[in-house]
Amino acid sequence: MVDLKTLTSTESGRYLLLGNEAIVRGAIEGGVRIATSYPGTPSSEIIDTLHEASGETGIYVEYSVNEKVALEVAAGAALCGWRALCSMKHVGLNVASDTFVTLAYTGVRGGLVLVSADDPSCWSSQNEQDNRYYARLANVPMLEPSNSQEAKDMTISALDLSEMLELPVILRSTTRVSHTLGPVDLGRLRVRSFSPGKFVKETERFVMVPRHALTMHDVLLRKMERALKISEESPYNMVIEGDGDIGVITSGAAYNYAVEALNKFGVEASILKLGMPYPPPSRKILRFMERYDKVFVVEELEPILETDVRSVGSSLNSRLKIFGKLTGHLPRSREYTTRIVYEGMAEALNIPTPKIKRFQSPDQKYLEIANSAPARPPVLCPGCPHRASFYLMKTVLGRSIVYCTDIGCYALGIQPPIQVGDILICMGASLGVACGVSRSQGETTVAIVGDSTFFHASIPALINAVYNNHRIIVVVLDNSTTAMTGFQPHPGVPYLGKSQILIEDVAKGCGVKYVKVVDPFDIENARMILKEAMAFDGPSLTVMRRPCSIMERRQGIRRRPYIISKDRCDECLACIKTLGCPAFHIVNGKVGIDQVLCTGCGFCAKICPRKAIEGSR
Ligand code: SF4
Ligand code: SF4
Repeated sequence: MVDLKTLTSTESGRYLLLGNEAIVRGAIEGGVRIATSYPGTPSSEIIDTLHEASGETGIYVEYSVNEKVALEVAAGAALCGWRALCSMKHVGLNVASDTFVTLAYTGVRGGLVLVSADDPSCWSSQNEQDNRYYARLANVPMLEPSNSQEAKDMTISALDLSEMLELPVILRSTTRVSHTLGPVDLGRLRVRSFSPGKFVKETERFVMVPRHALTMHDVLLRKMERALKISEESPYNMVIEGDGDIGVITSGAAYNYAVEALNKFGVEASILKLGMPYPPPSRKILRFMERYDKVFVVEELEPILETDVRSVGSSLNSRLKIFGKLTGHLPRSREYTTRIVYEGMAEALNIPTPKIKRFQSPDQKYLEIANSAPARPPVLCPGCPHRASFYLMKTVLGRSIVYCTDIGCYALGIQPPIQVGDILICMGASLGVACGVSRSQGETTVAIVGDSTFFHASIPALINAVYNNHRIIVVVLDNSTTAMTGFQPHPGVPYLGKSQILIEDVAKGCGVKYVKVVDPFDIENARMILKEAMAFDGPSLTVMRRPCSIMERRQGIRRRPYIISKDRCDECLACIKTLGCPAFHIVNGKVGIDQVLCTGCGFCAKICPRKAIEGSR
């Protein structure tokens, strides 16, 4: 990663930047005054880097409680004339969508860019949704970079476009663009006034009662007519001329695979690369397609571009053949590779394929390595407090009870040997789902949620549980951070002088009658509380509070590792079979503790039936 000094420098120069860092540089060059986000991979580096640079740049940076709130804060500032950037992972836009769709009606005054980081192949997400649909749903323009340089340039262009049209603009990235390093030419930093924003009232425009909304819908459609003209002229929608009688139409990360496939195998083609694919520049697409009898469309996930291309192409000669997903030559799920694109292209276009063998040796090598390496599913870290919480839930509440869990490190509790987690849908869903399960089964149901996720989206469901008297045991696994996305703060953490909001106070305020806080390492007390919660008639909430062990290490907190007394250990394997802490190993039939991995949390010592685990000296 590039250093902060370079990223905020007024000097020009060429540097290697991650796509997400390039977006940050674009925000700084483009005069962004406020940046908001709820972190989520693959978008997190954007807000983290902006946060680090906030002192240097004067940009107000906020980790908001969820994506909807993040967008609302950014929109409020943009309505007052500030330039704003709001970043989130693709599923975050589902949370923000209610605000987003109507915000397109009111529009903005300062430029507002919504960065959506999509995740083909679900590298770190619960689905593969294609957020290009959101541009269509909300009727807002969208830019789609293919590399770091474009990520920077398009961030600035998106801000300009947004301000010109008074509309939010989506900048859609995918994991491969967000997390790939590429050369970026730094541009001039715009000097913008740091004066406060000002909201100028305009009731018909900003108060979306039905009468005003109908009028503003027509205004939005007129803005999109202007956006279409801009898209037709946009230098981001460019033709890269080549020889041959094949036309390729592509956008985003898929452009790189298309170019590589063509270059690797010497296939001659011209490429229409759409950096501003929405609204689709129909006339430009038509002019390009008129030159060919065969057009190949390369895009990841849904056949959105291909559908546009087909609708434009329907007016052309009947000889024109359009290939892509809808002809079965490219898959509709998972991130692409050069091989996938080449194979689809070769089959569709009858390209001779002898050189495809060049892929085979690396693929063979990959398969050999993949087959010989042991499977390494993600696990809770050594010393993770959640392991203790899961152990307690299993031993007190049992295995037959339904555990509705949520998004965060604690989702790793589904892995053996812990195996706690029967339903997991999306951020904040565990409480609501548990209400339904409990009601339909007529049985108490567990809802597990993390501290950050509690604030993100669980509070309305908690109120629902209280109001309808659902028999759910809510267990908040509070590790005092948003660990999975990179240790960002949330309202439950005292941070930079901000006030701490305690989960237990919120729960009491929501009307929960049984609210307890316990350290999961305090086994006896925690057991007693879980038993009480189980017996309680109505929803209960228990906060199991202990800091994330990785965060503690980063803060310099070190404890002595534990060791196993060979005299007392009878190799019962209870420690390995029930806790599964990665610091444990079996060597020559003997259980041991890796002294480097052990964090000295000591929970294993509490559950060893032979008292064979002890602190080292
Ligand atoms: S990062 Fe922290 S909370 Fe997450 S698994 Fe590791 S120790 Fe547990
Ligand atoms: S639980 Fe205790 S006695 Fe059993 S294997 Fe582990 S260290 Fe040895």
